[in-house]
Amino acid sequence: MRVPPRIVVASQNPDKIAEVEAVLRALDIASEVERGLSWPPVEETEDTLEGNALVKARAVAAHTAIAALADDTGLEVDALGGAPGVRTARFAGPAATYEANVAKLLEVLDDRADRGATFRTVVALVTPDGDEITAHGELAGTIAREPRGTGGFGYDPVFEVDGVTLAEMGEAAKNRISHRARALRALLGMLEPGSGAPTEDPGS
Ligand code: IMP
Repeated sequence: MRVPPRIVVASQNPDKIAEVEAVLRALDIASEVERGLSWPPVEETEDTLEGNALVKARAVAAHTAIAALADDTGLEVDALGGAPGVRTARFAGPAATYEANVAKLLEVLDDRADRGATFRTVVALVTPDGDEITAHGELAGTIAREPRGTGGFGYDPVFEVDGVTLAEMGEAAKNRISHRARALRALLGMLEPGSGAPTEDPGS
């Protein structure tokens, strides 16, 4: 797939959109990132991260006629046999808040010593012509005993890497190491230069 001239981030979550856009800027993407578009709600009907990322990207590409970039992320907790995984957003119930999900996770883990966990992200890029690519990224860490930090979103206040939570480390540091940044870096690495990419210097 060539670098699309325009890309829309296929999410309704302002925190996720802001983070994807920051990572795309840091990676110097050549595409114009469109903002302010809307589309009907897309139901996450699949039982895999890849399936749900594709469902979202396909629906938004079809509705906007712009290449759509979707992200689906799951938190896999070792002591819970990989749960909540694809149900991470709904861990504490169908419309759970970030705080309710974090509280449920801390309650379920209680004072267990085994607190290893992995964030896993699949990103999908789908063009209006139906071309599709996906890429994966992951980040290993541990679940803290209580929330710390004010940055990021979701489970960031309890997801520690080397003793620092994602919510404590600051946006730039998170966006260098995160599951989402790794997936986006891999995805952009799969693209061939296209009409949105910088043109070659004619003098060289
Ligand atoms: P989804 O990818 O929008 O389905 O998100 C799944 C769940 O994981 C939601 O509860 C998000 O808030 C949470 N989540 C997604 N990405 C991150 C992240 O980078 N840090 C912390 N929580 C996240």
